[in-house]
Amino acid sequence: MSDLYAVFGNPIAHSKSPAIHAAFAAQTRQDLVYEARLAPLEGFAQAVAEFVAAGGRGANVTVPFKEEAFRLATRLSDRAARAGAVNTLLFADAEIVGDNTDGAGLVRDITINLGCALAGKRILLLGAGGASRGVIAPLLAEQPAALAIANRTAVKAETLAAQFADIAPVEGGDFGRYAGRNFDVVINATSASLSGQGLPLPAGLFASGALAYDMMYGKGETPFLQLAREQGAGRCADGLGMLVEQAAEAFFVWRGVRPVTGRVLADLRAKLAA
Ligand code: NDP
Repeated sequence: MSDLYAVFGNPIAHSKSPAIHAAFAAQTRQDLVYEARLAPLEGFAQAVAEFVAAGGRGANVTVPFKEEAFRLATRLSDRAARAGAVNTLLFADAEIVGDNTDGAGLVRDITINLGCALAGKRILLLGAGGASRGVIAPLLAEQPAALAIANRTAVKAETLAAQFADIAPVEGGDFGRYAGRNFDVVINATSASLSGQGLPLPAGLFASGALAYDMMYGKGETPFLQLAREQGAGRCADGLGMLVEQAAEAFFVWRGVRPVTGRVLADLRAKLAA
């Protein structure tokens, strides 16, 4: 019988993860099945328990269960402990191992797929929710010149910044705090684009040739990337590459094999544009 994996979320119907992992499995000749599973909002732990009882070997976790998955894990990777959220579960030897591959996925997409080195760059991270928290340590590991966090609710950005001060100085505040300054890389980790809302970005935020990166992705240009282009960002990218790279990292955690992502990402991009 094929090894069983799944992604848990609510909603989950439009998840691209089953297609991505099916492509990885075919490419690496791994015998596995990967399904999308809708977990009830109050029933995530039970859904996972039933999946493990049915022989599930591992799972991805998406909105809104990443914090619950963090609490459910009996053991955490260092990066999941830092992130305070889990997007990858591994079921082995009666343990539920929690990992977080979002940060590794973002960094791989920016540095390898987009060819933009982060070392020595000034990075501004927009948002102070789960996605933002998960990528801070992996971004700092690239040794940027500076990392700053901007959030609608300033205190959340300040608190988050303080939690990583043992790794490197991180600054936090509201959007207005960064008026008159510019950055080489601006990453949108807010969910504002989901509701089609723009962000109150101060003018002149993008340094010459700056990369604007939106963790969100969709058929057309996201509101943040449209704003970034209008404000003079040199280069724009959405989060589809991050999605594929975090999946590849999870696949590696489960199977010990790292899939090649380029073709999978290109196929997904073509389907999204169709
Ligand atoms: P959270 O709900 O944890 O955090 C949301 C953040 O967005 C908060 O900082 C919130 O600010 C801010 N925000 C929401 N609405 C607005 C608005 N109208 N104006 C300004 N700020 C706003 O969400 P996540 O961190 O889990 O996810 C954030 C985004 O990242 C989502 O779009 C998600 O799809 C994407 N993502 C993409 C991934 C990928 O692989 N490509 C992986 C993970 C996430 P405040 O604190 O003030 O409420």
